[in-house]
Amino acid sequence: MDYFYIGIDDTDSPDGMCTTFLASTILNEFRENGIQIIDFPRLIRLNPFARFKTRGNGGVSFKLDLNQNIDLAKEIVLKYVSELSMFDCDNTNPGVVFYKGEITDEMVDYAFKAIYSIISIEEAELFASKIGAEIHKFKKGRGIIGSIAAISCPLEDFTYELLAYRDPSRYGTERHIDYDSVVKMDRETFPETFENIDGKYLAIEPKTPCPVLYGIRSNSPEVLETAREIVIPNETIVDSCIFKTNQHTDMHIQEVDKISDMRQYSCYKVKGTVKDTPHIIEGGHMFFSLYDESGEIEAAAYEPTKDFRKTVEKLRAGDKIEIYGGIGEQNTFNIEKFQVLHLNDTVLRNPICECGKRMTSAGKQKGFKCKRCGKKIESSEKVPEKIERTLENGKFYETPVSARRHLAKPLIRMKL
Ligand code: ATP
Repeated sequence: MDYFYIGIDDTDSPDGMCTTFLASTILNEFRENGIQIIDFPRLIRLNPFARFKTRGNGGVSFKLDLNQNIDLAKEIVLKYVSELSMFDCDNTNPGVVFYKGEITDEMVDYAFKAIYSIISIEEAELFASKIGAEIHKFKKGRGIIGSIAAISCPLEDFTYELLAYRDPSRYGTERHIDYDSVVKMDRETFPETFENIDGKYLAIEPKTPCPVLYGIRSNSPEVLETAREIVIPNETIVDSCIFKTNQHTDMHIQEVDKISDMRQYSCYKVKGTVKDTPHIIEGGHMFFSLYDESGEIEAAAYEPTKDFRKTVEKLRAGDKIEIYGGIGEQNTFNIEKFQVLHLNDTVLRNPICECGKRMTSAGKQKGFKCKRCGKKIESSEKVPEKIERTLENGKFYETPVSARRHLAKPLIRMKL
């Protein structure tokens, strides 16, 4: 069935704004003019490795019935994007896309391409003309790449996010949210809401100067109303909006059979064997190599993943694991989570003598000898011994909330 779709992207900068806030402002204006959208506005996260992203590489989209005042809707969207975008920033290049029709298979493919890989402005423009979409480019108009994807992205698995916005006079200042109220909200609504808090770290609070006071993530819109009631903001909230989103769905993760099939700037899950003991380098980043019959890759748990590194450190050569994450700069695989498939719980050691002492090598071809009782054995074969492992076969381990990507599916959402 035909509908009218609106996509908006690339309106913010590291210094301010947020495309979701712009979307919420537009929706308020729609409401005042009697324009209704179908379902929730959508916040679609795209390739986390896209070069020009401000933060989480998100675009927004709305869906309208054709009996709405489409011309007025278009006018309102273009007016607010022109007025509120952060045009001073070189990397803010807004793009608005209007599309009337059905979401076709090739549009769905485009959306996955925008999540899995990199698309150029020219390619997006060509695609828009192919599907008959109307594009509006501001400055370089890079936002059309994400706008088309935000319109086209299917949402089989999805979550919601309630975003509350600050009074503009507070932008850039410290946020004031009652910590205990967030703890209470988490206690009463988790796991239907998730990623609220991590010890003292208030995960619902952004750390950038954007208009958002807090964002609460959930599996359903209803629980967000409960959460909203419980959280006490110690400053004015001027607006709020619930988005339907592909956040926390692992939509960015592609399944590959071989390590050599993976490409830089894409995200995957891949099985392999740990080659060496994870080691930490200056700056606190931890690395190890993972291999299979096709090749090997350097896997990393970077410093911001904090205690996750202590878990990674427990891996040892010979462990079979499946890692989830993506290949970024330096061609290293940033681990978001991993599952232990098979722990290597044996170690080859010199045999123990009848007298109880571990034997030492008697040199090549000569087997082992006991330094205590002098006994010799001819075989040079070391013997396998079981060792205690603190990781568990089959179990998943994930990065902490503070270091998690928007798209990463937390274990609490996985049907384990
Ligand atoms: P925020 O999350 O705060 O809204 P952001 O991180 O989403 O900001 P944007 O300002 O939207 O950052 O900038 C991202 C830019 O990257 C947009 O122009 C978008 O069109 C573009 N983009 C999105 N996906 C891809 C992709 N796969 N390849 C190339 N460019 C992309």
